[in-house]
Amino acid sequence: MKTMPRPHGKAAAICHLLRNPRGFEAKIFTFLLNISVFYHAGTHPTKFYFPIFDTMIFIDTHCHVSDEAFSGEEEAYIARAREAGVDLMLLPDIDSSERPAMFALVDKHPDTLRPMIGLYPGSVGEGWKDEIDDMVRFLDRWEAETRRKVVAVGEIGLDYHEGKEFAREQKEALEWQLDFAARRGLPVNIHLRDAMGDFLEIIRRHKGLRGNMHAYSGSIESFRELQRLGDWYIGVGGVVTFKNAGLAEVVRDVPLDRIVLETDAPYLTPVPFRGKRNESSCIPLIAAKIAELKGVTPEEVAGITTDNAKNLFGI
Ligand SMILES: [Zn+2]
Repeated sequence: MKTMPRPHGKAAAICHLLRNPRGFEAKIFTFLLNISVFYHAGTHPTKFYFPIFDTMIFIDTHCHVSDEAFSGEEEAYIARAREAGVDLMLLPDIDSSERPAMFALVDKHPDTLRPMIGLYPGSVGEGWKDEIDDMVRFLDRWEAETRRKVVAVGEIGLDYHEGKEFAREQKEALEWQLDFAARRGLPVNIHLRDAMGDFLEIIRRHKGLRGNMHAYSGSIESFRELQRLGDWYIGVGGVVTFKNAGLAEVVRDVPLDRIVLETDAPYLTPVPFRGKRNESSCIPLIAAKIAELKGVTPEEVAGITTDNAKNLFGI
């Protein structure tokens, strides 16, 4: 997506150098720059904002790269994402039917794709405990074999959009997984649809959790309530670009240091591609919209939201 305003001339040349994260010269240059900023400012260099030197690195904190919508095109998907500055993509887990394919893809791209583990609320039925057993077995085996860690327990939550037939089971599965995340010292990635009241009731019993509300659709009041109960971020995606979406108003009010970027690809494609298949390379469009709403530059949105994702997911 070529939507970002880019500097010209010398600045553009320096930007180009720094945009290549593998470039040895770029790394040395950034290192020296940070040292000098640190020396002159007497504070932490990453808190400083230099548009010319910024590398515009993004993290897509929620995307389904192993979805069948991208079948056979995964390599091209990742290449396009990296071209757009999205260096890291976090993949939510769904259930035992999709898990092996997702982890197989992650294992092929360990530097670019990082997995979550979790049972999606839409996959919770009467047999949810068997699904959970399967999930824990899978995770323990994967961690032992690869000596790597998942970044979060997700996507987990409540979804009453299609009805409340399994509302009780969804709540039980969610509470089990919140405890599991706490035991394993992992943040949570929450999927929530038409169920904020029940969710807040559960979170009041599970204070002190860390996590993010994927595709946040709640009010500013609900966000503040969550902040009182734990360490919460909101995931902002393509919906923020939709006309008449109340999310834009919420994003104006939520501090930038509480926002992470996400696409939820292949769903929720931002304007002007709404209705088409979404993918991680659309992240700069979302950053640009947030920048517009908050009156800051896209580079600043990139820098702060990437720091937020790193802090939250320990990456
Ligand atoms: Zn999702």
